[in-house]
Amino acid sequence: MKVNIEEKKNKLYAIYDQYEKDVAEFKRSSACVIGCADCCIDVGKIEITTLEGIIIRDNIITFEEPLRSEIRERLEKNRVEIEQKKLVRCVFLKEDKTCLIYHIRPFSCRQLYSVKRCDGSAPAMHRQAVEIARQTVRAIQKLDSNGYSGHISHILYLLDNRNFRRSYLHGHFEPQKIASFGKSHKIMINRFIST
Ligand code: SF4
Repeated sequence: MKVNIEEKKNKLYAIYDQYEKDVAEFKRSSACVIGCADCCIDVGKIEITTLEGIIIRDNIITFEEPLRSEIRERLEKNRVEIEQKKLVRCVFLKEDKTCLIYHIRPFSCRQLYSVKRCDGSAPAMHRQAVEIARQTVRAIQKLDSNGYSGHISHILYLLDNRNFRRSYLHGHFEPQKIASFGKSHKIMINRFIST
């Protein structure tokens, strides 16, 4: 049965909104400012679900050339560098250190804030907010129940495969078809992630 992707997207946006409400009190003491992009540079993990990947992929398709090709090249470079265990700059970070896809950025980015300037160190978040974020990730994975989670460049790579994309959008659950890629690229099967 074909997945009602629009309905799932709306549920995802509702989860994002709920998270913002739940952590609003904590984020009030955030030191984050526009143009500070420490969490987008030299990051090892920008993990997304396939559902978030579909939204980002659909957005990339709307980019004018040469930007669209540049993003594709940067994603390819990201994939190679991650395999070399390098920390990478997010492909969507603009020269002015703002985000090209801010309105549809994945939860991996939304969850982050810091009560002090990071200056190369990890963000300092309230413990309660970290726990709410953990539960939110689980809710998103549960919503994307026939999908996967992994590095943004790997999930977008999977979604570029027409057969994979069609199978996913039709609601099929066929983890055996990506078993080899999944194992070597640390792709998680959402349905099998425990709470
Ligand atoms: S998607 Fe946007 S907010 Fe997230 S890491 Fe990339 S540039 Fe930063």
